[in-house]
Amino acid sequence: MAKTSYAIALGSNRRHGRHGSPAGAVEAAIRALDETKLDLVARSSIYRTAALGPAGRSFANAVAIVATRLEPPKLLARLKWIEREFGRRRGRRWGPRVLDLDIILWSGGTWPRYPRFAPPDGLRVPHRELARRRFVLQPLAEIAPDWRDPLSGRSVHQL
Ligand code: ADP
Ligand code: MG
Repeated sequence: MAKTSYAIALGSNRRHGRHGSPAGAVEAAIRALDETKLDLVARSSIYRTAALGPAGRSFANAVAIVATRLEPPKLLARLKWIEREFGRRRGRRWGPRVLDLDIILWSGGTWPRYPRFAPPDGLRVPHRELARRRFVLQPLAEIAPDWRDPLSGRSVHQL
């Protein structure tokens, strides 16, 4: 497959033993993307947001655009590997997390290719919550305001 590009959302709301604050963990994770054979094309600055839900800590968020030959499931596996490297534990969805990496948009369109067929692993691109997450849209608009959501046809700026 030729290289395609992906927007990846990064988030952290817990200190990391080595990388320090949530912002430090997000910075280190952007470097980790670049070091795992994903070409880093662009990155937003880091945004700090007040906590959602009962976790009670503020978040650091950013978006990176990478280019790779990997298809979405292979990319997600690699992102999960990086999350584990950063010490993320499965379980509590809203608990403190060292690192969350989500695939937001793909230049290849939708995954699965026919979005009406539910994939067994639950992977969906564009990310289901994209239009509702200001902490993703804001950094994404900084680096890719004209990228269109293939499902709604709206640009990131419009969303
Ligand atoms: P969230 O990221 O929504 O806060 P999790 O990180 O716990 O929550 O994700 C739960 C699961 O969502 C992941 O294990 C993954 O398999 C699935 N998932 C579905 N679509 C995506 C996507 N576009 N990017 C990342 N994960 C996704
Ligand atoms: Mg996630």
